[in-house]
Amino acid sequence: MRVLAIGAHPDDVEMYCSGALLACKARGDDVFICCVTNGDKGAYGMTSEELAAIRRKEAQAAADIIGAEMIFCGLPDGELFVCDEHRRPIIDAVRKAAPDFIITHSPNDYHPDHCNTSELVFSASFLAGAPNVPGAECIESCPGVPAVFYMDTPTGMAFLPTEYVDITPHWDTKRRIIECHESQVQWIKEHDNLDMVEMGQVMARFRGVQSGVQYAEGYRQLEQWPRMRAERLLP
Ligand SMILES: [Zn+2]
Repeated sequence: MRVLAIGAHPDDVEMYCSGALLACKARGDDVFICCVTNGDKGAYGMTSEELAAIRRKEAQAAADIIGAEMIFCGLPDGELFVCDEHRRPIIDAVRKAAPDFIITHSPNDYHPDHCNTSELVFSASFLAGAPNVPGAECIESCPGVPAVFYMDTPTGMAFLPTEYVDITPHWDTKRRIIECHESQVQWIKEHDNLDMVEMGQVMARFRGVQSGVQYAEGYRQLEQWPRMRAERLLP
C-alpha cells in the first residue's frame, strides 16, 4: 500500500502518527510524509531562517528512521491559509505519493495551521486525481479519491477514536523519532512547561488502555463517499 501522512509542522506527524507509519513500513508499505509549513516560528533566540533550517534537518532525521520519503512544502509557519496558493503544493504531494490513504490533522485540532491543513488536505485529495487541475503532472497512477484518516489531537482533547493501531512493538522507535525534534522538545518545555516525549508516552498508553494493548494510536476515518473501503487500510 502507499501511505501519505500530512502534518502542518515538522514534528506533528512524528507525535501523532509515527507509530502507525512504522507499522506500515513493517508490513511493506511505501510511506511518504508531507510537511506543509517550515516551522519557522517555534523557538526563542533564532531567526526564521535559522529555525527553519534546523527543523528541516530534524524532520529529515525522523523520516530517515521511519524509512519515509519527505515532501517539504515550505510554507510559512502560522501563516497557512485555505487558499489556492497553499493548496497547490498539497495537490502536488498527493500526486507524487499517489496514496491509498492519507493521515492528517482532525478538523477540530487546536492550532490554526492544523485546522487549515485538514481543510486543505480535504480539497487537495479530492482534486489531485482530476487531470485538468493545475499543478504537478497528474499521472495515471494518481488516486481517484483516497481514504483519509484523522490522527489524534494533543492530549486527545475532543477526539474519540473509531480505529486503533497497536504500536507496542514500535514505541521505543517512536520515542527516538520524537527526540529528533530537539528544538521543539526544548521550546515546548520552555513555552508550555511540557515534556513532548512524556506526552507522547502518556497518549500512547491512554489509547493502549482503551484498545487493550500496551501502546496504541487512535484514528477517525473521514466518512464520505467515495473514500470508504471494504478492507481495513490502517495496519
Ligand atoms: Zn503542529
